[in-house]
Formats: sequence, structure tokens, C-alpha cells
Amino acid sequence: METHKKINIAIDGYSSCGKSTIAKGLAKVLGYTYIDSGAMYRAITLYFIEQGIDLADKARMQEALQHIQIRMENRPELLQSLVYLNGRDVSARIRDLDIANVVSEVAAIREVRTFAVALQQAMGRQGGVVMDGRDVGTVIFPDAPLKIFMTASEEVRVQRRYLEMSAARPDITMEEVRDNIRHRDHIDTTREQDPLTKAADALVLDNSHMTREQQLELVLQWYRKVVGQ
Ligand code: C5P
Repeated sequence: METHKKINIAIDGYSSCGKSTIAKGLAKVLGYTYIDSGAMYRAITLYFIEQGIDLADKARMQEALQHIQIRMENRPELLQSLVYLNGRDVSARIRDLDIANVVSEVAAIREVRTFAVALQQAMGRQGGVVMDGRDVGTVIFPDAPLKIFMTASEEVRVQRRYLEMSAARPDITMEEVRDNIRHRDHIDTTREQDPLTKAADALVLDNSHMTREQQLELVLQWYRKVVGQ
């Protein structure tokens, strides 16, 4: 399918919309690199928790950022990307609820965003990246030729996330999952710095009633149109 220059593809949307599923599927079909920008905020959050960093202590937080090294490793054969925090594989740890409960507060901090966005932009410099997050089409890759804004009904999102999280934490309740999704969406859409918003040129994908295959087919149609195939 490849005769042209590889583009960057931006996928943004609310929490638990299935962004990573479609982003990974797309990357696999196109031979692109999938990058989970949210994983970086989760890894930073883990570091702050482990170091006992008070988010109000700006000087300490900025100092701490200088000691953080994040590496993403693409493993398409596992249908996932691994995240390393200072050399340690934290891919599973960062999915826990204690991280999910504070990650949006951490991601709302200007200094944290400046740090993460610089890393994310560097990763896309050569093109050929499918990145999902909240500000990919608006801030990280504002020139991406294909931008997708994903959404789904709250009930569908809660169900999906509950199924995903209860595999690792059978005691988790639907209420906990719902509260977390609402909490993050609220902070992500109302924060001052780079809030979640649809880029003017993004195409909307509401997947409440779509299978993964239908979503991938639609997004591939959009892709072909953009690259002129
Ligand atoms: O994508 P995921 O749900 O793992 O992201 C975790 C959190 O990281 C989000 O709720 C949001 O607060 C933050 N985030 C962000 N900008 C991104 C990606 C994620 O602010 N590009």
C-alpha cells in the first residue's frame, strides 16, 4: 500500500473511546509506528507518586522532570507498545487505578506538558506515526494530514473500560470506572493548557455502535483519500 511519503496520523478523543485499538490496528496495516501519548503522562505520574512529589511544589517537580527518561517500544506482534521509565518496564503498572485517578491532574501542569510534547514531537519528526491522545491534532502534530476525533456514549465507554480493568482487578466496580472516566474527561476538557478539543480539520468517529472492523475500514478510507490512493 506504500508508494508515498509516510504521514503522521493524529487520533484524539475522550477517555476509553477505543483510540488505542484503532490506532494500533491502523499502524499495523500501514506499517506505521504506534505511539500512546497518554502512556507518557502515566509514566510521569508514576514517577511523581514513587518519589512522593507534591504537585504544588513546582520547583521540586521541575527538578524531578529532569530525571525522567521515557522510552516507548513498539511491539506490533503483541499488539501493544511497551513503556520504559528510566529503563524499567512500567507498561502494566501505569494502567492501575491509582495512576488513572491522578494522571489528569499531572497532565494539566504546564511544565509537564512542555516536557511531554517535546518528546512526542521528536518521535514524529520522520513521519509514519499514528499517535493517540488528547492534543495530538491540536498541539503535537497540528499539520498532520489525517486527524481523527473519537467519541462514544458514556455507557459504552464505561463498559469497555470496566471489562478491560476488571481482568487485572476483579474487585473494581463499574462506579469506580465511571467516576474515573468522568473525572478525567472533565479535567482534560476544561484545563487551561492544551485542553481536549476537536481540531477544526479533524474527522469525527463515533464508534458507539461500530465494530472494530467497521472502524478500521472507515479510517482506511479516510487515509486513502488523504494520501490520494
Ligand atoms: O490515553 P490515556 O487515557 O492513557 O491518557 C491518560 C491521561 O493523560 C488522560 O486522561 C489525559 O489527562 C492525559 N493525556 C493528555 N494529553 C495526551 C494524552 C493523554 O493530557 N496527548
